[in-house]
Amino acid sequence: MKRRELLRHLGAGLLACSVCSALRIGSARASGGGVHWGYSGDAGPDHWGQLESDYATCASGTQQSPVNIVGAVPTSIGELEIDYRVTELKILNNGHTVQVNYDTGSTLAVRGSAYQVQQFHFHTPSEHTVDGKHSSMELHIVHQDTGNNYAVLGVLMDEGAENKALRPVWSAMPFKETGEKTINGVWVNIADALPAARGYYEYEGSLTTPPCSQSVRWMVLTAPITVSTQQIATFKRAFPMNARPVQPLNSRTIFLQKA
Ligand SMILES: [Zn+2]
Repeated sequence: MKRRELLRHLGAGLLACSVCSALRIGSARASGGGVHWGYSGDAGPDHWGQLESDYATCASGTQQSPVNIVGAVPTSIGELEIDYRVTELKILNNGHTVQVNYDTGSTLAVRGSAYQVQQFHFHTPSEHTVDGKHSSMELHIVHQDTGNNYAVLGVLMDEGAENKALRPVWSAMPFKETGEKTINGVWVNIADALPAARGYYEYEGSLTTPPCSQSVRWMVLTAPITVSTQQIATFKRAFPMNARPVQPLNSRTIFLQKA
């Protein structure tokens, strides 16, 4: 079920938003699955739950992401054991974000669970806020375990020094919607973009895009990384705004594992 939802989640991006908005088929089912959704207007986040029945959780779910991180409870839930490998750059623009697909073999282990990296992608501004404050961007590294449970590692990206580890991704950035393209001979390891300090916030949340599936284990690093003004501007050429607003925390607790 969850794998099907992920495929639908990814497949939804295959629909060209510019095309569907031009044709005004905002609630029509596209060939290949999924309906048009976006970040503003009639197909924006306030309407995702009504766009189609499979997206109902976006409106009815009580464990939605992103959230404002405040009042995190210090705990000792365990360090992140990150073992990411290099992957030949396979990049796409799915109409909602710029995404890099990852080869198998890169893992994140935490508290006895092991997850495989599937892909990473970006949002601007950040989706999570800390004490109500957005960062300029946010990196999401999406993982799955063998039971098809998701874990997403979020990394806040503040405006500052250029992020050299992201240069190859930015150099290949597809500004228009397009399928996966392999950049032969270019290898990336997203671990190179992570901060040295690996303290993190953890809570139970959801995908931040339709179908907003829940039971996603979220970990957001407490230490931000930086991206230059120019790098932010380059990403905004592809996506001026692709962040879902923060959702009610409801009865959830946000935990803090210090570095
Ligand atoms: Zn994301």
